[in-house]
Amino acid sequence: MELMYSSTRNDKVKLTASQAILKGLADDGGLFVPERIPALDVPMDTLADMSYQETAYEVMSRFFTDFTEDELKDCIKKAYDSKFDTPEIAPLVDADGAYYLELFHGPTIAFKDMALSILPHLLITSARKNQVKNDIVILTATSGDTGKAALAGFADVEGTKIVVFYPKNGVSPIQEKQMITQKGANTCVVGIHGNFDQAQTGVKKMFNDTALEAELDVAGYQFSSANSINIGRLIPQVAYYVYAYAKLYKNGAIAKDEKINVVVPTGNFGNILAFYAKNMGLPIAKLICASNENKVLYDFFSTGTYDRNRDFILTSSPSMDILISSNLERLIYRIAGNDAEKNTKMMEELSTDGKYAITDEMRAQLADFYGNYTSEEETAKTIK
Ligand SMILES: *Cc1c(COP(=O)(O)O)cnc(C)c1O
Repeated sequence: MELMYSSTRNDKVKLTASQAILKGLADDGGLFVPERIPALDVPMDTLADMSYQETAYEVMSRFFTDFTEDELKDCIKKAYDSKFDTPEIAPLVDADGAYYLELFHGPTIAFKDMALSILPHLLITSARKNQVKNDIVILTATSGDTGKAALAGFADVEGTKIVVFYPKNGVSPIQEKQMITQKGANTCVVGIHGNFDQAQTGVKKMFNDTALEAELDVAGYQFSSANSINIGRLIPQVAYYVYAYAKLYKNGAIAKDEKINVVVPTGNFGNILAFYAKNMGLPIAKLICASNENKVLYDFFSTGTYDRNRDFILTSSPSMDILISSNLERLIYRIAGNDAEKNTKMMEELSTDGKYAITDEMRAQLADFYGNYTSEEETAKTIK
């Protein structure tokens, strides 16, 4: 059965996965969410013996149901190849009493390679499936890592162009050099006066500008997004949680169906969309939402109020320096009972007052999550 995607701000919207990937963001400003979360109906003993690519296929084929087996396998093959410095793609390492999933083996050393190495292929395939004649112009706001990983993923991919906006004084010197030295005839990088949230808000405005859309269409272009709001980036990330669990099981570190806690560093609430893996049936106990000093998510989980009215702190983890956590909207929509109207009201409050509070009923559904944060001092100490 085809899995359709609707908008978190309008239940009436029904798109196929490839259409949702192409659009990136819904016309009403909402995010695309699958109508239901498919079950991971593959036995753990089977998953235990699978490669990263095979696991990715099992997960992604459940979500992207309008892709053929050949199309999806081709995308996966092109993404997770020798660009990664290990055939394991995402090795699991046992250290200091915890298991670490290493997500930095891709071409730009950022975890974002996990998704951005496949997104261009998903997009091009989606364009072909939907008879799109226009070239796809990727607009991306970055707080550091996304920009480089997206530029590397899209560089010289035929039928695409990419424009990256980054806060001129908000990324590390290495990240800036990584971006402005990017090769590729179809790449473009812009430093803005402002922070990441302002860059992201500007990009969202361009996406919602219908006059601009018409003008581009005449010129043979259309926008899409490589930010983590695109489900073409989020769903591939669900795969590594399944892969990690299967490897723990294979190693004998856990028994069958044993629950694990997963600690996820997150800013835009993309990486922690791991909750889709839990909703698929992966035995996860708590999803631990790890923030830096921009602890807006920690405060949200501890009080039920999301409040972005605070100073934006530049930390040593700029990729997580975010006060408007875009993908949290997917969780809000879910705990509102997939109620687009309720969700829209809260998102409007966020944009006018910079804050909203969820109901006690919604809060009761956050038992899967635990939030905490670390100071700059603790971060430095831990890295050392
Ligand atoms: C981007 C990034 C994150 C956070 O990802 P979200 O999509 O904001 O959840 C965490 N760690 C690193 C290294 C990153 O680059």
